[in-house]
Amino acid sequence: MSKKIIIVGAGPGGLSAAMSLCKDGYDVQVFEEKPYVGGRNGNIKLGEYNFDIGPTFFLMKSVLENIFESTGRKLEDYVKLYNLETMYRLSYSDEREFLASSNKEKMKTEMERLWKGSYKNYERYLAKEEKKYNRLAGCFKVPYGKITDLLTPQFMRTIPVLNLHQTLYNSLKGYFKTEELTTSFAFQAKYIGMSPWKAPSIFSIISFIEHKEGICHVEGGLNQLSKAMAKVAEEDGCKIRLNTKVKKLVIEKKNVVGVELENGEIIKADDVILNADFAHAMTNIVDDNKLKKWKKKNIDKKLFSCSTFMLYIGLDKIYEDIPHHNIIFSKNYKNNVDEITQNKVLSEDPSFYIQNASITDKTLAPNGGSALYVLVPIANQLANIDWSKEKERYKNKIYELLETRGKLTDIKKHVKEELIITPDDWVNNFSVYNGATFSLGHNISQMLIFRPHNEFEDFKNCYLVGGGTHPGSGLPNIYESGQIAVKFIKDKYK
Ligand SMILES: Cc1cc2nc3c(=O)[nH]c(=O)nc-3n(C[C@H](O)[C@H](O)[C@H](O)COP(=O)(O)OP(=O)(O)OC[C@H]3O[C@@H](n4cnc5c(N)ncnc54)[C@H](O)[C@@H]3O)c2cc1C
Repeated sequence: MSKKIIIVGAGPGGLSAAMSLCKDGYDVQVFEEKPYVGGRNGNIKLGEYNFDIGPTFFLMKSVLENIFESTGRKLEDYVKLYNLETMYRLSYSDEREFLASSNKEKMKTEMERLWKGSYKNYERYLAKEEKKYNRLAGCFKVPYGKITDLLTPQFMRTIPVLNLHQTLYNSLKGYFKTEELTTSFAFQAKYIGMSPWKAPSIFSIISFIEHKEGICHVEGGLNQLSKAMAKVAEEDGCKIRLNTKVKKLVIEKKNVVGVELENGEIIKADDVILNADFAHAMTNIVDDNKLKKWKKKNIDKKLFSCSTFMLYIGLDKIYEDIPHHNIIFSKNYKNNVDEITQNKVLSEDPSFYIQNASITDKTLAPNGGSALYVLVPIANQLANIDWSKEKERYKNKIYELLETRGKLTDIKKHVKEELIITPDDWVNNFSVYNGATFSLGHNISQMLIFRPHNEFEDFKNCYLVGGGTHPGSGLPNIYESGQIAVKFIKDKYK
């Protein structure tokens, strides 16, 4: 008889595992507390407008393509992908703008226009980072459960390129002469909720991946990826129960033997995979007195990523001159980053990101309209900001900035729909601990063997997937966490 596996959460991590287990004939049930699949990679519908809740940058699509292939499917049969030639518009404090392009000729013209002589440094950056990437890439596909996992030939080969003593910003300074240019390849630390001045230098591979492989959009939004993953899993027999909250893990001695649902129903399983945000899961669905390493008091000593203030706006017009992705740097970027990550105060000079996806994808809004997504990196809930007081004021501030720095002239006159998400909402409506949207921080002391292991350390028959676990946040890593968990389970029953 096939082994019974329960997955708690239908986020990208849980769905990655579900697809592969179902393909191999496991009896898989996914319990998801929300009425939709995808978790933070789900969809928000406001009237006739569609938005991604979270991810808007689809990088390293080959990771997901490979998972689809391993189930005998093709990703392109399930979703329509667009490669964005203009990757993003970066807007600096002096109002100058840089259009980063995946077309190397256009990139050269643009870089030389802004910073004469800089393109050769860019080529040097691409060549050196490629070597680093080639050595590191395999490390995100395997588990790190014990110290000896750091002694494998694969990991040893990465040591010369790790530069553990260097921060991301300092390592990039080695290629680029101006602060502006360095920042343009370092701001990606925000994708994992970190400061470029604190994140380890290995994360220079994020901007490298963008410049090497480009950035994809998915028709209908990146939430379509999760929907496609759920579809494949269901085609192979997966049972996904939406609106079904898991109250507790059922634990006998040190073995997880099933889950208890909120309605009191107990469902037994051979193995349980936890995809709920790691810190949320430890503090909400596992009895603290049964935990050993990951008790709340230990979780609370960890560093958490930043949070985000979100605005989803349905407009009755399209801003045709605004590219798909736009990053607007604050007047003093370093100070803004320190406010978010160290001083934990609400920045009055924020940097922000605008996604104007409707210029690429007409399915997101009614005819002539557009679905605008605005993300403002801010301090997580540990900042003790009273969002019931600040929410409206901050929203108005962001509208002003959208109008001035963002160049969305008269935006307020065109608003038809609007939704705000604050750190409190990330906690209360999306089950994200501390409102840390990118989960646990990615400092060296919280990576590899120091990050929550995919084979759970505290109990048997339990596996962890998702952004708060190894290898880390970001869709490709999260998909890999699901694959690593699957390998543990398959090896166990071989
Ligand atoms: C605003 C934002 C922007 C982002 N942008 C990008 C980007 O551009 N590119 C990128 O690669 N990544 C991005 N990310 C990071 C990351 O890819 C996503 O957050 C991703 O959705 C995380 O996946 P996950 O599987 O770890 O968890 P989640 O997506 O949070 O899924 C966990 C699931 O578990 C469910 N759950 C929790 N508790 C229970 C329970 N008790 N019972 C049942 N179900 C439960 C939740 O409802 C949820 O569906 C972004 C994240 C955010 C928030």
